Amino acid sequence: MSPAEQTYRSLNDEITQAGACLVAVSKTRPKERILELYELGHRDFGENRVTELVEKHAALPKDIRWHFIGHLQRNKVKAIAPFVHLIHAVDSERLLREIDKQGKALGREIPVLLQFHIAEEESKYGLDQQAAQALVSALKASPAPNAKITGVMGMATYTDNREQVSAEFKSLAERFEELHNSYFGRSADFREISMGMSGDYPLALAEGSTLVRVGSLLFGGRG
Ligand SMILES: *Cc1c(COP(=O)(O)O)cnc(C)c1O
Repeated sequence: MSPAEQTYRSLNDEITQAGACLVAVSKTRPKERILELYELGHRDFGENRVTELVEKHAALPKDIRWHFIGHLQRNKVKAIAPFVHLIHAVDSERLLREIDKQGKALGREIPVLLQFHIAEEESKYGLDQQAAQALVSALKASPAPNAKITGVMGMATYTDNREQVSAEFKSLAERFEELHNSYFGRSADFREISMGMSGDYPLALAEGSTLVRVGSLLFGGRG
C-alpha cells in the first residue's frame, strides 16, 4: 500500500466508523489525484470554485458525487445545477431562491445545506440564529421545493483552543436540532451536519458531524 493509500484508508475508516462521510476536498488538486482516490473506491469530492468544478466534472467519471463547499454566487448556480450532489454553503434567501429556480427548470431537487456562522472570526458568510429563523419563516410562507434543505454546515475558528472549537461545533449541532424540531421535523431528508476539516475533524465527529470535509490531510500541504 502506498503512503497516500494508507492515509486515505485509515482516515476513511475512522470517519465511517464514527457514522460520518468523508468529503475529499480536491480544490486546486489535479485530476490525477482525484482519480487515485476514485480507483480506491472514493466517490465524494468537494470543490469551492465553479469553473474548476465544471471542468473537473466534464473530465472525470460521471458517478462522482460533487460537493460544492465554497461561497456560491447566484449567477453561477446555473452552471453546476444539473449535476451538483450537494451545495454546502447556502446563507441567504436569494441564493436559495435561485437554486430553487434552477432546480425547477431542470426538474430536479437540488440538495443544499444552510451555512451557519459559528466561528469567532468576523465573516460575511453564514447565518446566525435569527437570520435562520427569518429564512424558515419565509419558506413557510413561500416554499422552495426544488432547493431541498438537507442539513447545516459550519466552520470553526482557526485556533489551537480545542475547547473553543468543540463549543462551536456543539453550537452548530444545536442549530441543527432547533431546525429539526421547529421546521424540518417531519422530513427524514433533514439529517446532515457538515463540519470538520483536516485540523479539527476528530472534534467535529465527537459533536455529531455527518460530513467531514478534508483536503490537506489527504492530499498533502495546503490546498
Ligand atoms: C478548503 C476547505 C476545506 C478543507 O480544508 P483542509 O484544512 O485542507 O482540510 C474544508 N471546508 C471548506 C469550506 C474549505 O474551503
